[in-house]
Amino acid sequence: MSLRQGGDRRRVPAVSSQGARAGRRLGPWMPLWVLVVVAAAVGGWAAGRRSGRRARSALGRAAAGVLARAGAIGFSAASAVDEFAPPDVLEVELDRFGTWLQAQWRRSEEERRRLSAVLAGLTEGIVLLDPHGRVLLVNDVARGFWPRLAPGLQGRHQVELFQDARCDRLLAHALARGEAQQADLERPGPKGRWWRLHIVPIPAGEGEAGAALTAGALVIVQDITEQRATEQMRRDFVANVSHELQTPLTSVRGYAETLLDEDDLDPAEIRRFSGYILKESERMAALVRDLLALAQLEAPRWVPAEPVSLGEVARDVVAAQMPFAAERGVALELEAGTLQVPGRPDELRRALENLVRNALAYTPGGGRVRVRVGRLGPEARLQVIDTGIGISAEHLPRLFERFYRVDRGRSRETGGTGLGLAIVKHTAEGHGGRVEVDSVPGEGTTFTLVLPGASG
Ligand code: ADP
Repeated sequence: MSLRQGGDRRRVPAVSSQGARAGRRLGPWMPLWVLVVVAAAVGGWAAGRRSGRRARSALGRAAAGVLARAGAIGFSAASAVDEFAPPDVLEVELDRFGTWLQAQWRRSEEERRRLSAVLAGLTEGIVLLDPHGRVLLVNDVARGFWPRLAPGLQGRHQVELFQDARCDRLLAHALARGEAQQADLERPGPKGRWWRLHIVPIPAGEGEAGAALTAGALVIVQDITEQRATEQMRRDFVANVSHELQTPLTSVRGYAETLLDEDDLDPAEIRRFSGYILKESERMAALVRDLLALAQLEAPRWVPAEPVSLGEVARDVVAAQMPFAAERGVALELEAGTLQVPGRPDELRRALENLVRNALAYTPGGGRVRVRVGRLGPEARLQVIDTGIGISAEHLPRLFERFYRVDRGRSRETGGTGLGLAIVKHTAEGHGGRVEVDSVPGEGTTFTLVLPGASG
């Protein structure tokens, strides 16, 4: 008896979309064994045709068996077939099955390529593990972190895969309990990099007594060195600001209490203490002003640049600082031509003012400070050259950090906030330029603001 389309389909079930999904889940490994079986069956089938009826019925069984199993992986037969189906029906179905397999193979290849591209493009390291801790998948970033890892590798006790006791312990935990794990790891090495490890178990329902079962785990490893450095900088900054404010605040409080508590202070003492209070509150005001300036420079914003005459900026600053130069007994000179850059005049004026004030503050009486506006190719160069105390080389790399001071006591004496050079640096960078420093201890220092787009 042969079964035709619409006949008894129980023997070779037409396959549902669920079956197709199962086929997709089998992934790139599925078609290999099927291809082998099909090749054998088709070869046998051809041979069977040559060697008579008995052989044909045996091979017909084999071919029908292959098609029946094909149903389980998603192939839907057009005709209902079994071992008694006529050779032409079996042949047509095997042929269709071959074409279907090729299409499946191509699709899974395409999916594999897409997955590889995604994994290669990720900045995170990815490792996919089966429930026994065997590596199914690992990308290059993860391999950079754990060079030994390769697909198929398995930790003997599920606790030696990463060759890192902490990672292995977390993995064993995640697989056994079905709970996500996270840890920050410091990699030894010259750069001291930090990595964040996430282990996310893949749930597979509940086992006995409601215990979570896992179908494996996804391990994600992220480089968090920069993030940690930024967090540390923020913490240091808050600590520094608190400390900087605390000192003048304590003084103000002390003098104010003395003024209140002491009844027999003479007018000169009252004037002296009030003067201290004024000086300390000015220090705090300067600190708040510089903090706001920095916050403004760092905030993402869009203020249009306009043509700025650097000669004018320099003239304004020199004029404003003349009284301070006179007070310090330092000659302040200007060499400015006509030169323009695209920029924000208020920011450039404040940056130059910081440089000139520093130059005057760190140059002993009798010395000289020159402000020079010049040009080198397309770049404008705004220079402040002093004959002051200079800065020794070991301080230069950190000089533009917030609150970095060469001599804390001297900076306090000059009323500095420790933020002036940080403001200069941010201003230069905000204009697409940079700031350079050149110094010889005991001879003097030159700060140069280099700004692009010079004209005129
Ligand atoms: P401050 O408010 O303390 O001057 P800055 O950020 O402006 O802070 O400068 C940082 C440090 O750099 C100063 O404390 C000082 O030690 C040093 N410095 C800046 N400019 C000069 C200069 N022209 N000559 C010598 N040292 C300088």
